[in-house]
Amino acid sequence: MGLYSRLVVPRPLPCPRCGSQTDLVIQFHFGSKRMQNFSTGSAIDWSGRTEGSPRSGRFGVVGYPEPCPSCGRDDDTLCVVEFDGDEIVGYRAATEEGMREFEW
Ligand SMILES: [Zn+2]
Repeated sequence: MGLYSRLVVPRPLPCPRCGSQTDLVIQFHFGSKRMQNFSTGSAIDWSGRTEGSPRSGRFGVVGYPEPCPSCGRDDDTLCVVEFDGDEIVGYRAATEEGMREFEW
């Protein structure tokens, strides 16, 4: 299993299949690879083995939403986890156009 970090956020809409309102978990590969859970407003760290390198200003990294924990529904969309320096400031759905910024 690859190592990644997890951003845990309130689910914006209940699961369309089962109505679950459990938190949404978005996996991303940036910073320490320690399987940590983060919420919006927390900062990632750079200890141990890392992915990428620290950046300043606002930028996004690709995020992979986990399937619904109740029914397993996986809607196959990608997210952008938004950073300001080391701080996670939010996330948004990824658009095809927006994915070009990840070629780094
Ligand atoms: Zn569900």
